[in-house]
Order: sequence, then structure tokens, then C-alpha cells
Amino acid sequence: MAGGRGLGRALVLNATYEPLCVVPVRRAVVLVLKEKAEVVHHRDEVMHSERVDFPVPSVIRLVHFVRVPFRARAPLSRRSIFVRDHHRCQYCGAAAENIDHVIPRSRGGEHVWENVVASCRPCNAQKEDRLLKDTHLKLRRAPFAPKETIWIVVAVGTVDPAWHPYLGDMPEALPA
Ligand SMILES: [Zn+2]
Repeated sequence: MAGGRGLGRALVLNATYEPLCVVPVRRAVVLVLKEKAEVVHHRDEVMHSERVDFPVPSVIRLVHFVRVPFRARAPLSRRSIFVRDHHRCQYCGAAAENIDHVIPRSRGGEHVWENVVASCRPCNAQKEDRLLKDTHLKLRRAPFAPKETIWIVVAVGTVDPAWHPYLGDMPEALPA
């Protein structure tokens, strides 16, 4: 039976098509059946219940606009930094294992998006508590505060390809 667990989750869009959250598919179906949301995109699978067969929603959109408390920035965490940096060392491109403060904290560097990067152990060790200009390391790109929707990838781990148009330029999945 298709209505069981493992159906995954659906992306919920605000009435304005901005991504709001991710909910279990069953919850998405309830919202649609209650006419609180409409299906924007569904998968090829069908879920069966006693009363109704329903295509499994992948993206739904709320009928009424929901005001979301202003969140200026995506939450900064080790996991979200790794997602932004695609789990790659921002100095050499190797698999990242550490978080590096570009301006070391011991020199007044802040723990903010613009001053943290994923780094591999050797680069992290090479840099120590020095400023970039005192090392041979170069940043491949300047660290930046990512779009707020990065939290969806952080929360879910993988992203349904059907969600991409609503999330913008995002990493598709967290590397294992
Ligand atoms: Zn490195």
C-alpha cells in the first residue's frame, strides 16, 4: 500500500511561491483535502486511502498568504557551513573536515557567515592562527551568507528535483 511510511516529504510554498517548510506527505495531503493548499507538483505515485486515491504531492502551495517572522539570515552551524561550501575545503578543494575562521578568533575574527569556511585538516593546520596574507592559502571564493532556504537542505538532507525551481541555486544533497 502506497500510503505507508517512506513516502517522503513535500515542500510547502507560501501563496507567493516562496518556500516555507517541508512536511510529511500525509500532512500535505490533509492540507490539500481541507482546501488550505493546492498541489503545484505531484509525483507519479498514487496514495490510497479508504475514501480517495490521491497523487503523492511533491510541492504544495498555501491558498492564503502566511506572514513569516523576518529571518535575516540562515542559521550558522557546522552543518549549514558544510552545505554552503559543498563539503569542500575552500582553500584547496579537498574533502572538508573542519571549520576555519578566515580571520582567526584569536585575532578578533567573528563567528559569522562571512568569516567561516569549510576546510580540510591540512589547510586548517597550515593556517593556524595566522591571517591569510601570512600564509600561502587562498580562498576559492569569498564566504557569504547563503540564501535563507539553505535550511531546507540542512533539515531534509536531500532535495526532490521538483523543488529546485522554488529553492534557487542550492546543493542537491548533503554528501554522506
Ligand atoms: Zn584544504
